[in-house]
Amino acid sequence: MQDRGVLTVISGFSGAGKGTLVKKLISEYDNYSLSVSMTTRAPREGEVDGKDYFFIDKPAFERNIENGMMLEHAEYQGNYYGTPREYVEKQLSAGKDVILEIEYLGAFQVKKMLPEALLLFVTPPSAEELLRRLRGRHTETEEQIQGRMKRAIEEADIVDKYEFILLNDDLDTCVRQTHEIIQNAKFSVSRNAAFIEEIKKELTVTVG
Ligand code: 5GP
Repeated sequence: MQDRGVLTVISGFSGAGKGTLVKKLISEYDNYSLSVSMTTRAPREGEVDGKDYFFIDKPAFERNIENGMMLEHAEYQGNYYGTPREYVEKQLSAGKDVILEIEYLGAFQVKKMLPEALLLFVTPPSAEELLRRLRGRHTETEEQIQGRMKRAIEEADIVDKYEFILLNDDLDTCVRQTHEIIQNAKFSVSRNAAFIEEIKKELTVTVG
C-alpha cells in the first residue's frame, strides 16, 4: 500500500474554529505535521514567528513566488499567504500526514497540482454562531468582522468543490471525525493504484 502521507487541506469560514481543530488534531495524534505558512500580514498579539506563521514582507514573498518556493499562494484581505513547498514534500515522503490550513484559492491550486490531496471544509452549526465566535475572539475590529462575514458568503458558494464537510459543533467529536476521514483516505483505490498494478502482475506470475 501507498506509504506516502496524506496531504489534507483544511479550509472553512473564518471563525469556524479551524485553528483550534487543527491544533487539537495534531496534539492528539502523532502522525500529523502542520505546515507553517508564510504571510505578509502583521503578527497578532501572541503570535510567534516560525510557529504560527513565517512573517515576511511583500518583496520577500514575491521573490519566493518567482523562485518556485511556494506550493500555492493567495491574496486574502490585502495580504499574501502561502505554503512553502519543501517542508510539505519532505514530510509526505517521510510518511507524515501533512495538514495545510489555508483558504479556498490556495486549496484549489493544491488540488490541481496534487489531485490525491484531500479537501475538507469546516463549518459552525449556523451563521449566527459564526458571528458569535468571530466577535468572541476579540482579535478583529467590527469592520474586519463584517469583512469576514461577507467573505463567508463567497466561501459558501465554493463548498461543493470540497470532498468532506466538518461540522465543528462539539470540538472533540469534530477532531475524531477529521482523524477518521484522513485515515480512511489512505485506503482509497485511486491512492493505491500502484499497489493494485503490482498485485495484477503477481497474479499473472502466480497463475502462470
Ligand atoms: P488569518 O489572517 O486569520 O491567520 O488567516 C486568514 C486566512 O488565510 C485563513 O482563511 C487561513 O486559512 C488562510 N491561510 C493561512 N495560511 C495560508 C496559506 O499558506 N495559503 C493560503 N492560500 N491561505 C492561507
